[in-house]
Amino acid sequence: RNILIGGGTGFIGKNLGELLMSNGYNVMNVARMPGTSNISWSTLEHSGLPNRTCAVVNCAGQQFMDFTKSWTPGFKQNVQNSRVYTTKALAKAINESKDKPKVFIVVTGVGAYEPSDSNKYDESSPTTGIDFFSRLVVEWEKAANVEPPVRLVIIRSGAVLGRWGGMIKNMFLPFYFGVGGRIGSGKQYLPWIHIDDLTRLIHFAIENESVQGILNGVAPQVITNEEFTKSFAKALGRPAFFPVPETILDFLLNPERAMIMTKGQHVIPKRVLDYGFKYRYGDIDEACREFAHLCPKQ
Ligand code: NDP
Repeated sequence: RNILIGGGTGFIGKNLGELLMSNGYNVMNVARMPGTSNISWSTLEHSGLPNRTCAVVNCAGQQFMDFTKSWTPGFKQNVQNSRVYTTKALAKAINESKDKPKVFIVVTGVGAYEPSDSNKYDESSPTTGIDFFSRLVVEWEKAANVEPPVRLVIIRSGAVLGRWGGMIKNMFLPFYFGVGGRIGSGKQYLPWIHIDDLTRLIHFAIENESVQGILNGVAPQVITNEEFTKSFAKALGRPAFFPVPETILDFLLNPERAMIMTKGQHVIPKRVLDYGFKYRYGDIDEACREFAHLCPKQ
């Protein structure tokens, strides 16, 4: 029982690999660097999927919140290609394989939905393609073009919360030293999911043959950035009195990229709940308590 993970060396991919291995799967990664469990993207292109691959998951994508990288046309292209081309390459390998995997899972983002203070989105809501991120998600999901009987599951993930990656890794130290705070007005929604629940949801989607189509990979509890800020600061036992003005983020990151933090969407995981998935961290206070330690389990 082999599972192939594109970007399996990253924050989500690594946590997913560990969960799957603890459930008896053999995990291989598609990665740019060599490694004992890695194959390269060109090996995938020329030799196809490893034998007896029962599931393929794509968690690859250039980090766009990399503050050392300017938001240039070249970098935006890299952000786009690292998601769309890797998804295309995996879909092609699946379509050309003789011994087909049962399922292809792609982790995309809630950026598919237009940021709004009033709209509520479930999986049946339209994606507008109105800004960079929603256009990217539309292209990315189109690239996941696999033919039946392979099941396709697309998980539109919210901000993935865990100590060693994504948003928390970036904001842990300012909050730890008591200089954290809300972003902008703090009233914008913050769709979120704990890393353990995201990897458990992917595992659930691999093993439940009825699961297919789009799933909103978010916790059922809808919160704002301000609510998150209070909860994280409380879990750390620190104040969080230093709001980050939207204009500063727009200046430092470019408004097109900063919107991922300054704007948000009210997203409901309707289909996830309909399938009967049980969250371990449905409450933000509980989630924050899990990762609010300088050196918790790695
Ligand atoms: P990481 O940056 O931790 O990992 C991403 C992985 O993608 C890396 O392991 C890297 O693998 C691979 N990668 C990076 N750049 C490229 C490239 N140019 N070409 C091919 N592969 C590349 O990200 P996360 O694990 O946090 O996120 C994984 C995916 O999930 C991304 O697509 C992201 O947009 C999406 N997502 C993440 C969220 C989050 O909060 N973390 C929220 C919503 C969606 P290697 O270096 O080994 O090749």
